[in-house]
Amino acid sequence: MTEQPADPDPRRRIPRTDGLLARPEVIAQRERLGDVVVRSVVRNVQDRARRGELAPEDVTTQVAADLDAAAAARPTGPTAVLNATGVIVHTNLGRAPLSAAAVQAVVDAAGYTDVELDLTSGTRSRRGAGTRSALLAACPAAADALVVNNGAAALVLATTALAAGRDVVVSRGELVEIGAGFRLFDLIASAGARLREVGSTNRTHLRDYADAIGPDTGCLLKVHPSNFRIAGFTAAVDVPDLAALAREHDVPLVVDIGSGQLRADPLLPDEPDATRALLDGADLVTASGDKLLGGPQAGIVLGRRDLVDRLARHPLARAVRADKLALAALAATLDGTPPPVTQALHADPDALRERTERMARAVGGTVVPHDGRVGGGGAPGVPLPGWAVRLPEDVAARLRTGTPAVLPRVHDGACLLDLRCVPEADDGRLTTAVRRALRPGQD
Ligand SMILES: *Cc1c(COP(=O)(O)O)cnc(C)c1O
Repeated sequence: MTEQPADPDPRRRIPRTDGLLARPEVIAQRERLGDVVVRSVVRNVQDRARRGELAPEDVTTQVAADLDAAAAARPTGPTAVLNATGVIVHTNLGRAPLSAAAVQAVVDAAGYTDVELDLTSGTRSRRGAGTRSALLAACPAAADALVVNNGAAALVLATTALAAGRDVVVSRGELVEIGAGFRLFDLIASAGARLREVGSTNRTHLRDYADAIGPDTGCLLKVHPSNFRIAGFTAAVDVPDLAALAREHDVPLVVDIGSGQLRADPLLPDEPDATRALLDGADLVTASGDKLLGGPQAGIVLGRRDLVDRLARHPLARAVRADKLALAALAATLDGTPPPVTQALHADPDALRERTERMARAVGGTVVPHDGRVGGGGAPGVPLPGWAVRLPEDVAARLRTGTPAVLPRVHDGACLLDLRCVPEADDGRLTTAVRRALRPGQD
């Protein structure tokens, strides 16, 4: 009887990390759970085998089982989505994706943070003082700034603080519904100001405003009709003329620009910006943080110091105050590096075409011209020329429910993948997702 050579060290038979990470079931979970979680699960199982709690032969199945358990235990919050629609500010997808700096700022602010504390003196400070400084640096035309929960809150706080129980004079051509059935004028009225509508749907003149101003006027309001355009026989009063009228009658002028551009962008000549509106004489400008500004959900008020102060002291300000994570993200968005929204808006068409052709070769689709859009009620009707990979329409549903989830555009009986809003670093993940959606049941 020959003697079995004794196993010198069973630990040598423990599968190595590289081999485990290359297994298809591990790769699949890595996309869901991320690299950090997967590596820690692998290390844990290997450690148990090293301690003799697990046979080396069982390591592979145990890793798979632990990864399944980790995936099942994951909280069911919002799912990350690759936006392949070409629509930059997509309200159903959470509007602006945060910049890397903003993400880091959110992580840093997640614990205790000096959001309302002056660390030098150790005493209480104005909430979000750093974010206010960042806004004033980015928009020097403003004397003061206040950040609230969202654009709608900025507008309702402004009109309530300046005109509760009094008149807000506004053009009938600007009584906007902002989506999901919400109308800005209902909101304004619900907080106690009276709307004094002037002019008609298509034409409003300076004398219409002048005729409406009286002892009961709280403020004049100009709202950018951001999500639609009226063409044809139209007239509206510009900010400089309204500002002159407001000064003449000593009433403040509030301008809701919506999109949140702080400065003019030559690509969107019809989109208002805060700097222009303030230089043209607006007393207060209100805007969203997560549209063209490219930051977190926030509402921004910029303008005269005495008026911003009145808003900040109004009881309603407490109900619409910005959270510390949004304040942190907003300040970091303004650090000078163009955020993802700006990058997608200014994406180089040739570079987009190259990426699109590479994707089409990899998955077997055709390249077609495709216009992106600003979206989110910004620059309606302005096309952003680019490209898309054209695939059969039925791929769309499998892309949406795949991992990672992908939202393509379904149009004209086809599934279109526009890479404008997909970070280039995610092209590989998108290719894998498309391949899987094209061949369901395989790999
Ligand atoms: C989007 C928009 C709002 C509302 O802003 P939110 O940040 O969505 O609350 C208000 N006014 C205008 C003109 C807008 O475009």
